[in-house]
This record gives sequence, structure tokens and C-alpha cells, in this order.
Amino acid sequence: MVSTVRADRQGQHRTAFEKNKKRLLMTQNTCGICGMPIDKSLKPPDPMSPVVDHIVPISKGGHPSSIDNLQLAHWTCNRQKSDKLYADGFKKKPQVIGNRNLPQSINWAAYREGG
Ligand SMILES: [Zn+2]
Repeated sequence: MVSTVRADRQGQHRTAFEKNKKRLLMTQNTCGICGMPIDKSLKPPDPMSPVVDHIVPISKGGHPSSIDNLQLAHWTCNRQKSDKLYADGFKKKPQVIGNRNLPQSINWAAYREGG
């Protein structure tokens, strides 16, 4: 994985994320995606083990470590959510930037020639 995030910034988020992860494990016991209880005694790679899910994925502009953007979820639900978001990405219309969208300005080269 290639990341453009600076190491110190990443470390900061990592610390906040770990802190919030502990907080979520203490305060939540249901999956934020399917709403079913999570058995916190389960450990990965169990598909029903608890994972911390980003409500708005970081790739979609979500905060990497804010408690407001984190929820507890089943590993499998989190996985399915990612797949769904990935599929949605293909449906997204490509953004077309045409010449007509550019700001209108005086063609200075032609202006000088004319004058
Ligand atoms: Zn779930």
C-alpha cells in the first residue's frame, strides 16, 4: 500500500484510532452495519469477530480516527460494506471537464495581434 500521508500525521491518527477502538469495544456491543450483537470474545479471522469500521471510508473523505466516524462492526459486515462501496465506485459517472466549463477570458495573444 502506497500512502501519501506523512508519517507523523499517520502516527497521530494511529494513536487516536487505537484509543477510540478501545472506547468502542467498551461502549458498543452491536454491529453498526447489521445491528446484530457482536461477540467480543471472537478473534480474527473469525468472520463474526469485532472490527472497527469507518462509517465514511477514508477513501471517501471520512476522518481516519475521529470517534464520530468510527463504529463497531462484524468483520464480515465490514468486508461486505467495502465490497459494496467498491462496486458503487464503478457506477459513478466520470466527471467531464470540457472547454466550455473553463472560465471565459480574453485571448491576450490575439488581443496584442489585433492592437
Ligand atoms: Zn454485522
